[in-house]
Amino acid sequence: MSEYRIQGATGEWEVVIGLEVHAQVTSNAKLFSGAATAFGAEPNTQVSLVDAAMPGMLPVPNMECIRQAVRTGMAINAQINKWSRFDRKNYFYADLPQGYQISQLYHPIVGEGSIEIQLDDKNPESTKTIGIERIHVEQDAGKLMHDQHPTMSYVDLNRSGVALMEIVSRPDMRSPAEAGAYLSKLRTILRYVGSCDGNMDQGSMRADVNVSVRRPGEPYGTRTETKNVNSVRFVMAVVEQEAKRQVALIEDGGAVVQETRLYDPDRNETRSMRSKEDAHDYRYFPDPDLLPLELDDAFLEECRASLPELPDAKRHRYETALGLSAYNAGVLTADVETARWFEALLAETAAKAKKPEAEVAKQAANWLISELFGALNKLGKGLDNSPVSPAAGAELLALIADGTISGSIAKQVLEKMLESGDGAAAIVEREGLKQTSDTGAIEAAIDGILAANADKVDQYKAGKEALFGFFVGQTMKAMAGKANPGVVNELLKKKLA
Ligand code: ADP
Ligand code: MG
Repeated sequence: MSEYRIQGATGEWEVVIGLEVHAQVTSNAKLFSGAATAFGAEPNTQVSLVDAAMPGMLPVPNMECIRQAVRTGMAINAQINKWSRFDRKNYFYADLPQGYQISQLYHPIVGEGSIEIQLDDKNPESTKTIGIERIHVEQDAGKLMHDQHPTMSYVDLNRSGVALMEIVSRPDMRSPAEAGAYLSKLRTILRYVGSCDGNMDQGSMRADVNVSVRRPGEPYGTRTETKNVNSVRFVMAVVEQEAKRQVALIEDGGAVVQETRLYDPDRNETRSMRSKEDAHDYRYFPDPDLLPLELDDAFLEECRASLPELPDAKRHRYETALGLSAYNAGVLTADVETARWFEALLAETAAKAKKPEAEVAKQAANWLISELFGALNKLGKGLDNSPVSPAAGAELLALIADGTISGSIAKQVLEKMLESGDGAAAIVEREGLKQTSDTGAIEAAIDGILAANADKVDQYKAGKEALFGFFVGQTMKAMAGKANPGVVNELLKKKLA
């Protein structure tokens, strides 16, 4: 990977990036109340007295949210702090009825960890480790709605009190691509762990993008923070635009001021929102309504035992134990749903073939990646709403493996499976797509082809061996794709000898 540089009027600049990601914790109830958290509910239907900050209400930690934060910390190999504490972050905002957010500043639940990113999906060596400073848990605020009425604003408190994890990276990224790879990888891990659904378009995950520029080798420059960026593509765009803006500003004799900015995707630019506040502006202090959180070994043990096989480990296993290419292993493990689908397909395929999984893994992986993904893509579908199940896919693969149909017929069968929802064997039977090894029929077809292409036969015999493929193709065409390719090859060789 060549290093990413911004070319300014006075020379080259390096960009430095750190991300603070807010991830909504997957749980049925809020961080300190029993109110529901489902997305898309009618406004103010999921609000308990605690979330509305009624006088005298007391927060009670939801241990499921704590558990999810601990499991996430373990998944990024982070230090888990058995003792942590909640602080009040004081500020006024109309969607924050308490007048403060309960967060963790001084003693977060998760300390230092790291995530490995891969910069080139075909090259497993192109990895880089991005440090994670901490993960803390905190409450989300409500939402103001300004577009419901010409002169009034409304507030929806459904989100008020929902648990968030704030995952803070070190300023270790150096290009838009690295920032994008980091956010994608983090999302992958959260979805494997099941601690956040990763739905960026529903606001379940959003990133504050910290960007600064410097001359290569110089100390860090002053950073700006662009808030609430809600897609990988936008994060990459923010890094690029913000770095260019800062370079132009500095080269023009100006200075970057530490401030909070907003991204406008329609104009692809960032705009100043407010000057940066410091921690002391919020008058943080330990929340007197909550005891410190103390986690015991049994709790941590359960968290660890409940973790699934994580993406890096899975990818490694696919390459070593299943013999898949680095690229295929990467594609199949990039999302937990894809990996689950593949593993179900693999288990069914191996069972049908009565072979170990490693012997059928390549066939299953290639079919899934080059056939099913493409066919689903054309229909605007994904694996989550695929009309073909892993078991149905395995049935099709078994028909190819035992020679009942050829690979090219299998493509047609897959299309019909997607259209009708019928099984592969039933379609092959109904449409008469069985491959034939009937030498008489194949021989007749070959004789016809060779007679019609006497000139090419002469060229072949004169040494133009590449024409062999042409004869195979023509024979298959004449046989409507149903001839056994092995038999065709054999007969052609004999006749052309
Ligand atoms: P604050 O608490 O004020 O937001 P932090 O020191 O916790 O400040 O940093 C917040 C984020 O900014 C982190 O993700 C960190 O990696 C990133 N960051 C810190 N310094 C820089 C810098 N000079 N350039 C880019 N990002 C930075
Ligand atoms: Mg910050």
